[in-house]
Amino acid sequence: MKIICPVCGTEFVGEYDDDCPVCDWEYDGIELKGEEIWDKELKAPNPVTLGEARKLFAEGKNIWGEPLKKQ
Ligand SMILES: [Zn+2]
Repeated sequence: MKIICPVCGTEFVGEYDDDCPVCDWEYDGIELKGEEIWDKELKAPNPVTLGEARKLFAEGKNIWGEPLKKQ
């Protein structure tokens, strides 16, 4: 299925539990559940919440705090 990464907006083909090729976020459908949990729910293996992951991405980092891979 087509996945749009909720962190960085990258489109890729995959399934639930696949990792975004850009920011490494493991797609779990959290963005469908409602904004109020984005900064609360922490679900392994993602090491940060969706809100934190978006902040990292805005700083040019993946979910591990490492520089983004160049596309
Ligand atoms: Zn991503």
